[in-house]
Amino acid sequence: MTTFSKSVKAFEKKCEARDVPPETVMAYLTELSQRERYDLYLHYEEEMPSDLEEEFNKGMARILNYEPMEHVLGYSWFYGYKMIVNEDVLIPRPETEELCANILARMDEWFINQNEIHCADVGTGSGAIAIVLAKEEAKVHMMATDISEEAVATARKNAENNEANIEFVTGDMLQPLIDKGAKLDVLVSNPPYIPSEEVMEKSVVDFEPHVALFGGEDGLKFYRQIFKDCKKVLKDRAFMAFEMGWDQRERMSRLVEEELPGCKYEILKDMNGKDRMLFVYFE
Ligand code: GLN
Repeated sequence: MTTFSKSVKAFEKKCEARDVPPETVMAYLTELSQRERYDLYLHYEEEMPSDLEEEFNKGMARILNYEPMEHVLGYSWFYGYKMIVNEDVLIPRPETEELCANILARMDEWFINQNEIHCADVGTGSGAIAIVLAKEEAKVHMMATDISEEAVATARKNAENNEANIEFVTGDMLQPLIDKGAKLDVLVSNPPYIPSEEVMEKSVVDFEPHVALFGGEDGLKFYRQIFKDCKKVLKDRAFMAFEMGWDQRERMSRLVEEELPGCKYEILKDMNGKDRMLFVYFE
């Protein structure tokens, strides 16, 4: 038997010793108990119900072993939507919520005179981006592709749970869209962009799918493929939106200028002030 306060403090200490962010403890407890943070603090010195304590201890043992909290819970929150996550898909990141917000804002401006916006998410993973766009913009007709059948199965479940209408196709990069003769207004992708030699946190590299993380020697392999093929699936007037690595501004700019000469493009920073999003416009 223990109190909320004693248990949380003890786990925070253990986290510090193992280099796990101590904020994870309260974040996990609020999700697990389905209680608000203020409510837990109001009852902080009270005893923890024994079934909660048992589950909390078990989950915290996994978290202290560097397993992501979202895998322990089995889900993650993205743009207010609950997404199932597992070892087959990347856990959606907060930066990617910003990508969605920026896409939605541009859709409003760009397609003001259009009733339908045909959009595809390439390498959809958990389906997070596709689901947000389909839910938040009524004009959107959404397709989503991934090379991993397991990822597509998870994305389908997420779309179903969130009542999002999305056409899923399994296949490599743009190939399934080319095969279907897609003509898109918007192409979105958060491709794997970590350079293959990069050293990463244990919780990421040991638990998240490498097929969703690593983008070849320079991290740009998949952008290169998309830039080469994109005109086959885009309308003449269209835009593309990508997430990208924070240290890729120069190399990315060079790649866009080489592969898509004359196109207008911009690189936007995320909330941490890091280069994170690329928009390419065809008009
Ligand atoms: N942002 C992710 C990370 O740093 C990587 C996502 C990606 O490769 N698309 O773990």
